[in-house]
Amino acid sequence: MRKNKSANKKSKIFIVLVIILAVLLVSSRTCKLTRRNLNPVNSGIKSEISHQTNPDTLKIQNKEPMHGISQPDKNILLGKLTRPQRDSLLSPIERKYANRDGMFMHREAYNAFLEMHDAAKEDGIELIIVSAFRDFDHQKRIWENKWTGQQVLSGNIYATDIANPVKRAREILRFSAMPGTSRHHWGTDIDLNSLNNRYFESGRGKKEYEWLVENALKFGFCQPYTPKGAGRESGYEEEKWHWSYMPVSATYLSYYPQRITYDDIIGFDGWETARLIYIMEHYVLSVNEDCMNT
Ligand SMILES: [Zn+2]
Repeated sequence: MRKNKSANKKSKIFIVLVIILAVLLVSSRTCKLTRRNLNPVNSGIKSEISHQTNPDTLKIQNKEPMHGISQPDKNILLGKLTRPQRDSLLSPIERKYANRDGMFMHREAYNAFLEMHDAAKEDGIELIIVSAFRDFDHQKRIWENKWTGQQVLSGNIYATDIANPVKRAREILRFSAMPGTSRHHWGTDIDLNSLNNRYFESGRGKKEYEWLVENALKFGFCQPYTPKGAGRESGYEEEKWHWSYMPVSATYLSYYPQRITYDDIIGFDGWETARLIYIMEHYVLSVNEDCMNT
């Protein structure tokens, strides 16, 4: 009986030892596996494999980000691009697509325009760029020529006939943007064929405008300044000639109120009127909703 009891005790101790050994073995293996997963070398191999199986991912990861496409800085939004920003963002426009030499456009927008141009041509429509990228200084010249009365506004109205600076600025703003607030600063926007709405209301101009309304969006182009009143309550008058490459310009527009304040809209005649007129809220952001989708 005593012998039996002691044998029983021995076999119980043996079983407990076997269990402890088994637990130790399993836990050491689990530890090794966990360490392996955390090891940067192993996870590196793992992600390399996933890149190899997805060539698109690899392409995107290796692509150099272009200046200002995803996150435009203040310079770009205000038309004060640095030399490297100009070189990386803008493309010269070939003479055959424009009414003069020396114009530039955002590279992506230009490529999309070329496709749109060719499609229009197949339908017997000729699209000619009459204005494209304009920097801050260029816009300042346009604005100040009007502000100082060197250039007529419309008919025989001169800005200098209007003494009140806010009223004077508002009159110029019917068709011209203040320096620092123009979409032409971005290179994404172009004026096509004529700078006169009446041109687009009959004959050849009417056909061209109808073609653009029907097809431009397929190539990414929208008309920011549609007639006021239908979803666009303030800002510039209708401009049937002004078209914008929305995939880039909508991003720029969304960054504009985040990065630009009224302290940035300075350095030209009449700049003090910008905040009195709420130029950002009532003009820059007042565009056709087709131009706000990203
Ligand atoms: Zn324009």
